[in-house]
Order: sequence, then structure tokens, then C-alpha cells
Amino acid sequence: MLSTIQPPRYLSRFPLRGRTKSRPFHILSSAQPVTKTSFAADQSQILSIRYSLLNRHLSAVELTHSYLNRYRPPFDATAVKRLKDLGAIVVGKTNLDEFGMGSTTEASAFKVTANPWDLSRVPGGSSGGSAASVSARQCVVSLGSDTGGSVRQPASFCGVVGLKPTYGRVSRFGLMAYASSLDVIGCFGSSVADTGILLHAISGHDSLDATSSKREVPDFTSQFTSASSLKSRPLEGLRVGLIRETVDAGVDSGVKSAIQGAAAHLEQLGCVLKEVSLPSFSLGLPAYYILASSESSSNLSRYDGVRYGNQASSDELNALYEESRAKGFGSEVKMRILMGTYALSAGYYDAYYKRAQQVRTIIRKSFKAALDENDILISPAAPSAAYKIGEKKNDPLAMYAGDIMTVNVNLAGLPALVLPCGFVEGGAVGLPVGLQIIGAAFDEEKLVKVGHIFE
Ligand code: GLN
Repeated sequence: MLSTIQPPRYLSRFPLRGRTKSRPFHILSSAQPVTKTSFAADQSQILSIRYSLLNRHLSAVELTHSYLNRYRPPFDATAVKRLKDLGAIVVGKTNLDEFGMGSTTEASAFKVTANPWDLSRVPGGSSGGSAASVSARQCVVSLGSDTGGSVRQPASFCGVVGLKPTYGRVSRFGLMAYASSLDVIGCFGSSVADTGILLHAISGHDSLDATSSKREVPDFTSQFTSASSLKSRPLEGLRVGLIRETVDAGVDSGVKSAIQGAAAHLEQLGCVLKEVSLPSFSLGLPAYYILASSESSSNLSRYDGVRYGNQASSDELNALYEESRAKGFGSEVKMRILMGTYALSAGYYDAYYKRAQQVRTIIRKSFKAALDENDILISPAAPSAAYKIGEKKNDPLAMYAGDIMTVNVNLAGLPALVLPCGFVEGGAVGLPVGLQIIGAAFDEEKLVKVGHIFE
């Protein structure tokens, strides 16, 4: 059973100056604001299961600039269908960066989404609306997609739990494709338990997605013991590797100390902590942006103004393609398509795309080796807490650099859980910092168990 809308447990470990419990239900631009009725019901803590779902198929269609703004998809994504079949109530669609490309939700066709902790700051992205809606207690859980960190980084910025499953754990059928070899549907919740229950509901093989796994789906929360019956060192002997490169230069000092605090807390719970080095870690960012842009330039070629979506008025075929795409896509998306087309072009393929694939293999192997020696790896979820709206809007490279902590996990196809582990100065009450816990492929059960004990 999902919890009712309550302040998350971790807040009791991090007393904030004053306002925590009465954190206002600020919101946020959303395509379809949550109605008064459902909002009131949430606040009165009614015991119904209330999911806010980001049906990416629906929402991306509604929220892209103008290309698909009158298109209504004729079916639900498998993840959404499974939740509806279980009785979930969809209370709204949430804002996101167009086609999932961005780290702030500022590249949305709609308004800018604000971070509930400080309305002058970004909620992260691309699934910023989903993170903000859980953070503001509009809903218990929500869905997003994670191609390079779009569930985990907004979870960190908004102080909620975010879970990126192993590639193949959740069907991608109905998810708007950004970079198909990296895309996964992920979960947000205000507690690890709720997030685990949501993952269980949407996981499992689907004949409509050839990359979905046939592995059995464990009940991720069945091993939970109540806080009162926990042993004093419930994680005795668990081998934890802190990735050295993620607490190096370039990471805010407040984030570093929150992660060191989290590591110390894991030790108190019985974990055996050591530093591990992944020398290829910094190669993840350039490799990711080359591969993701390349795949997106191919995936987005379907938006040609002929098959569906808005069509330009030209009678000549090439002009029709060009005009429909020029008018339909926002500037970030156009930039990605250009970068990807360049990386895939005949003269540059070997230098960019092929090399990035080779780097991807190296990264996969280094994570595999580190996870052979450690049960879990830990790192910050982002090098900083939420920054100001507009701060990085005109500096895409600075924005991309903020994805350094998350992209490697997608390149390696691994699962990772992000949960709040502390605060840094900022805003009226402080800004949340997220701890990222990375596991071996299909080992989400361990992540959920450790996260539940940690929080
Ligand atoms: N910020 C990254 C990008 O723009 C990741 C996005 C995502 O995971 N959808 O590509």
C-alpha cells in the first residue's frame, strides 16, 4: 500500500529551519494543473492510491513546441496501462524539456517549472515537472524518463526519491524515443518504499518492446522490516565503493560534505566503505552527448510533417519537410539534431560516433569490474544543488557538464537510486542534495533495500 501524502521520513534526520512541514504547495507550470478536488483530497490524506503519471507519450506530444500540439496518441504507454489496470488514478501530466533534451525543464514549450524548495531555482530536468509534483506533494508518485539522468538529477534538486531501472526492466513501448539505447522509464516518490512499489507495478516483459527483459520481477519491497525491528547494524558487511572521481574538483563543497556524511551514515549501518577509482569516468560526458545526439537525430527523423503532427503549408515535398521541422522543433532539439547528424556523417563517423561507442564499452567494463568487488557504488547525483532559473540557459556546455554524475550509468545500462541525503545553504530553508546508489544490472531490489534502511 502506498503511503499517504506526508513529509518524507528523511526530513526528521535533517531538521530545517522552521518551514519544512508547511512547505507550501507551490506549483508549477503544468500542462494540466492538478484539480482542486484531487488536491484537497491529497491534503486530507485520503487513503486512496493516487498516482500522477507522466505518460511520456501523451505529455511529450502535448508539451513539444508546436510539432505535435494537436496530436492525440491513440494508445497508452505500457507502463501507464499497467498502472491504470492496477487502479491508479492519473491526476495530471507534467512539464518536461522538449523530447527529454535538457537538464532544467527550461527547454519546455510551456512555462518554466519552478523548484518547490525555492521558486527562483530550476527543478532539474528533463523530467522536472514530475519531480516537482512529488516534491510539492501534489501526488504520491510520478513517472519520468531517464536517458542521461533526467529522473535522478531532478530528484536530487527537488529532494525526492528517483529510481532509474536497469535498461530493459521496464517496457519502453509508448515512450517518445530520444536515444533508444539509453532511454528508460523511471520512478519518482517521496519515499523509497513508494518508489519501489511503483517500479514493481510497471516492470516486466512486454512483447511490444523487443528490448524488455524476460527476467522475473521481484517484489522490491517484500524484504522490508519496520524501523523499530531493525538491527543496530542492518547493513553489516555490505561492500560500498565511493567513486573517487565524483567527489573531486568541480563538485560543490556542500555537496561533497553531504555525500561524506551519507558515507559515514552507511558505515554506522554496518557497511564496509572504500574508495574506488573509475579512470574512465570523465569520458562519459562527451561519449554520452555524441551517442545521445546521434541516436536522437535518427529517431526524430520521423517528425517529417507527413505522417503525423503539424504540417507546413508548402506543396513541394522537401520544402514541406524543412518547414515543418524548422517550425516544429525548439532550439535545443535542433542543436542536438545538428550535432548528431554531424557525428554520424561519412567523414566524421569514425572520429566521433565510433570512438564514443568504444568509450562506452570501456565504461561498461569498468563499472562491471567495480561492481564485482563492491555490492553498490555511491556518488553525488549532481555536482551542485539546484541553481537559479536562467543561470545556465545561454551556456549549454555548463548545463551539459552538470550531467557528469548520471550519464555513465545510462551508458552502462545499470540501475541507480537517488535519495535525499542532506542540504546545502540556499533558498529560504536550504536546498536538498541527493545521494546516488548504483547497483549491478537487475539488482534494483538491493538498491531499494539499502535506500529504505538509509532514509
Ligand atoms: N540532460 C541530459 C540530456 O539533455 C539527459 C536528459 C534525459 O535523461 N532525458 O541529454
